[in-house]
Amino acid sequence: MLNATNAISTRLVAADAAAIREAAQLIRAGELVAFPTETVYGLGASALDPQALARVFQVKQRPLNDPLIVHLCADARSPQAWQALGLVDALSELQTRRAVALLDRFAPGPLTLVLPRGARAPALLSAGLDTVALRVPSHPVAQALLCEAGVPIAAPSANRFGHVSPTTAQHVLEDLGGRIHLILDGGPTPIGVESTVVDLCSEPPRVLRPGSISREQIAQVLGTPIQLGHAKLRESEAAPAPGMLARHYAPRVPLILCSDTDELLLQHAQLRAQGKRAGALLRDSQRHACAHVQPHYLLGETPEQIAQRLYAGLRALESADVDAILVCPPAGSGLAEAIADRLRRAAS
Ligand code: AMP
Ligand code: MG
Repeated sequence: MLNATNAISTRLVAADAAAIREAAQLIRAGELVAFPTETVYGLGASALDPQALARVFQVKQRPLNDPLIVHLCADARSPQAWQALGLVDALSELQTRRAVALLDRFAPGPLTLVLPRGARAPALLSAGLDTVALRVPSHPVAQALLCEAGVPIAAPSANRFGHVSPTTAQHVLEDLGGRIHLILDGGPTPIGVESTVVDLCSEPPRVLRPGSISREQIAQVLGTPIQLGHAKLRESEAAPAPGMLARHYAPRVPLILCSDTDELLLQHAQLRAQGKRAGALLRDSQRHACAHVQPHYLLGETPEQIAQRLYAGLRALESADVDAILVCPPAGSGLAEAIADRLRRAAS
């Protein structure tokens, strides 16, 4: 029998009811299935099955100290339901109040909560941490799969570790083809950047990874100002948030961050003088000033449009064989903060 990871033939199928039923069966049987969420495509495995979780790390080539997010059916969107499943341990009154308030406002949706880990949550899931990350995605395909599977599904982004996250089924195929049996195609993902991760185990709570739900929105619901980043991050510990690794979400060619269009044009001219070809990710409003920067990829104009197209643009330019990619990160809070965060990591 062939044991190479690449010996599998991968099927990419439209996410209709029959395909979702098959995917749910595969998950229950300990297999891996890629599926769309509202943020990016996820690589799903039964969250309670350590062997299936081990396969996730193997297929993604992900280090074991990088914890996974558990995805849940919308029927189970309360701390009580998560405790009943054994995923979450006893919470303080304050943690319960905060979790309930955030879930009432933002679930189902692109919000991940970090809570104390319960006894049934495998150590591998949490990379040995005493916390666990959970989210209730709103994408109809993700919800149908979760409810049909009847088990919580651990699902990191369905890419090779360190590469740009996938926002289409084709992206998943490019990264994981030959390594998983099934990809459910639900079209391009509507948000395009990963969920906002909120740590309810620190006091005050913190946003470990910015996403489309802004720090300001979280602060408003919790009634306390919210800082970005982990309180104490030590290199040797299991990564509290892999999104916090300096270099992550990276394209295969260097990404150069520019403060404005003038700087982008200057960088382009300098690279050209060195015999190098630089492509650019452009806002629509930069298109005329930068028409000669070729190839370029248009991101739209609003933060919503930019987030939705960002990863496809990075992938398109890296396969266009350029020597560098130029981009001006958006300024501002909320989704713009999340976009700037991903660009900073991809550039580092
Ligand atoms: P991915 O699903 O590939 O986007 O990466 C997993 C994400 O889960 C990371 O960015 C972390 O922020 C988050 N995460 C998972 N488990 C934990 C945990 N126990 N504590 C903090 N963050 C976590
Ligand atoms: Mg990821």
